[in-house]
Amino acid sequence: MEMSSVLVVGSIALDTIENPHGKRENLLGGSATYVTVASGRSISVHVAGIIGDDFPAEGLEVFRQYSHDLSDLKQVSGKTFRWGGKYAEDMDTRETLFTELGVFSEYSPQISHTNKTVPIVFLANIHPALQLSIIEQMEGNPLIITDTMNLWIETTKNELLDVLNKTNILLINEGEAELLSGTNDIEKSAEKLQELGPKTVVIKKGSSGAILFSGGEKISIGVYPVRKVIDTTGAGDAFGGGFISALASGGSFQDALINGSVLGSICVEGFGIESLKKVNSGELLKREKFLRTYFFS
Ligand code: AMP
Repeated sequence: MEMSSVLVVGSIALDTIENPHGKRENLLGGSATYVTVASGRSISVHVAGIIGDDFPAEGLEVFRQYSHDLSDLKQVSGKTFRWGGKYAEDMDTRETLFTELGVFSEYSPQISHTNKTVPIVFLANIHPALQLSIIEQMEGNPLIITDTMNLWIETTKNELLDVLNKTNILLINEGEAELLSGTNDIEKSAEKLQELGPKTVVIKKGSSGAILFSGGEKISIGVYPVRKVIDTTGAGDAFGGGFISALASGGSFQDALINGSVLGSICVEGFGIESLKKVNSGELLKREKFLRTYFFS
């Protein structure tokens, strides 16, 4: 299997989002969805996840369009995962209004024969027991890149630590890094997280950019200046999709940070995946060039 294939597992959701720009219900969302749409134009994405019989046909069409292999996307009777979030006026903070696991509560992934040998596994945010189950089924020692959230750090820490122990690259936001490492000093935090397993740790800082720590190396990037932020939901996952697609295509960590920032900046310009779907390659290239010149030359 070529290097540019990635198995993506994570939530596939119907989101309700309330923010100063309005309210949207049943938007296609979920961590795996954002990663898939952000990376599926440039790499071969294999999706593992579960949806209910209420999942809209347009949602399936999105997965058909952005992924290469859907043999491990299961549709069963029951309700699709649902999540609701409400953002504060500044859109930097949000509260979760509800999380309904639906069909995810019974999900026990069985990875198909061909998907077991995909060389890169992207464990997007989902219960760490599911992430662990995927790792255990893989053959051939793939590169494991993991994302998580505060809920799992607070409620299922031991399972999360098992996942991290087997992770090569951890993507985590600043607040979660502090919660997991016990320090708000970003350098010390990265060092502590590296001690948990991942040699490479990327700390995402929302509108302040991201910092990558790998071994003793440190690379920082800021954000692309977007005209109007409409909805920040999924920006971290879109960053992850951009990051992994550059890496899987043979790029460096610097290229991966740049591409992650490009996809994150596109994501925040519309509700849900709307702007990720609409963007053209000229716009992606323009943003890539800007970030490369502004932060790395
Ligand atoms: P982000 O804004 O990067 O945190 O990602 C938001 C996405 O994560 C939304 O589309 C939600 O459906 C999804 N999400 C929220 N809570 C969870 C959870 N507990 N497990 C998995 N995915 C979640």
